[in-house]
Amino acid sequence: MPSPQSETFLTGLQCLRCGRTFSPGSVDYVCSCRPNRGSDLGHLDAVYDYDAIGAMRKGRAGPSEGGRASPFSFRSSSAGRTIERWWPLLPVKPDSLPPLPVGDTPLLRANRLAKTLGLQNLFLKDDGRNPSGSFKDRASAVAVARARETGREVVATASTGNAAAALAAMSAAAAHSSVIFVPRSAPQAKIAQLLVYGSRVLAVDGTYDDAFDLCVRACDEFGWYNRNTGYNPYMTEGKKTVSFEIAAQLAEAGDIARQDGKSGNDALFIAPDSVFVSVGDGSIIGGVYKGFWELHTLGWTERVPRIFGIQSTASAAIHNAWRDGLEVPQPVVAETAADSISVNAPRDATKALRAVRESDGAFLLVEDEAILQAILPLARLGGVFAEPAGATAFAGLQLAQSLGLLEPGETVVVISTGNGLKDVPSAMRIAGEPAVIPPDLDAVAEIMKL
Ligand SMILES: *Cc1c(COP(=O)(O)O)cnc(C)c1O
Ligand SMILES: [Zn+2]
Repeated sequence: MPSPQSETFLTGLQCLRCGRTFSPGSVDYVCSCRPNRGSDLGHLDAVYDYDAIGAMRKGRAGPSEGGRASPFSFRSSSAGRTIERWWPLLPVKPDSLPPLPVGDTPLLRANRLAKTLGLQNLFLKDDGRNPSGSFKDRASAVAVARARETGREVVATASTGNAAAALAAMSAAAAHSSVIFVPRSAPQAKIAQLLVYGSRVLAVDGTYDDAFDLCVRACDEFGWYNRNTGYNPYMTEGKKTVSFEIAAQLAEAGDIARQDGKSGNDALFIAPDSVFVSVGDGSIIGGVYKGFWELHTLGWTERVPRIFGIQSTASAAIHNAWRDGLEVPQPVVAETAADSISVNAPRDATKALRAVRESDGAFLLVEDEAILQAILPLARLGGVFAEPAGATAFAGLQLAQSLGLLEPGETVVVISTGNGLKDVPSAMRIAGEPAVIPPDLDAVAEIMKL
């Protein structure tokens, strides 16, 4: 049996297109059945020795495994609570992860928000509380760990936003070099985060797709490790940790266990009935599904939740493929204000389509106006300030509820993927301007109508 000091439980990587399985060391990114650039790739899916992991759980190993946090000790206060506590289900050794607290974000019970929707059990997973302010830290931590384990001195990515910021932060924490390809038109605020963390930032005079392809070629040529979304198979593995946390946190919440008629306090994991997540390239939703699928496969939960993927009407490529029964989306010209989900040719559609089809969920489209408006109740009634792409998931829940897709008693989790401070101009657009007054009390009384 692997220990944290030796190997992992990873047994191979399986192509979702042709079914071929590779040993972990024999391939880095995509299958040779479709190695070319573009969004129709032979995407690989990490496979683990689930029997061995299940046996470990049955043994109810003590509060720590070799001095290390494990899923079997997640209630122990001494165990680490970052993503490293899921090490048996990760493709990297816990010691390789950067020393930053990634994951363990709050799952907030949102009773006031629930009431406005006629729901009883609504929870918000606030992933904007990760170190660089977005969900992407979960994946970038694994990318840096994998680069360290395979002896690649430089890790690179193409991104305009949160994935790059996350890689910059994780690289800095691990004292690893990073090179980031951004389209020259990328927003200044996002480029600032990269530069502050000390990444080498290369502004490509072209589109995101040009930057993506150049990054692939540079990594091939110079031996760098490529973190690109929908290309590096291990990113799903970091992203799935959100599902482990949600199921563990719902079990800790206790009242959900009783409602399900389960043996209450004994359940270590409880899957919700439905999960809402925003979708751009489709990588996060693929990870969310993988995590819940693994918990169910291991026999630790009773179901895989229905997974709802929410896109903007102005960036709907994966939704359209799902609606039309296609395996490979037709590219669109994306124009949504939710920049983190603005995607022309989605890179991880295979995993995204699988997530929704196999969980009996749906893709839903919301207008940009509804996305921006959703920021307000999320903050005022739910306590979470989300960037537009984060609020998109909640806008999707509002739509699902108006379409009658949910039962009132369902346990619903909305994942807020990014912090509102990432995009202040969008927030100002719906929040309005402050009243400007002279520095005297009469002015306060007048404006407050006192
Ligand atoms: C990247 C991102 C998404 C979408 O994730 P995909 O994997 O591209 O579907 C949603 N919200 C935020 C804040 C993101 O950074
Ligand atoms: Zn293949």
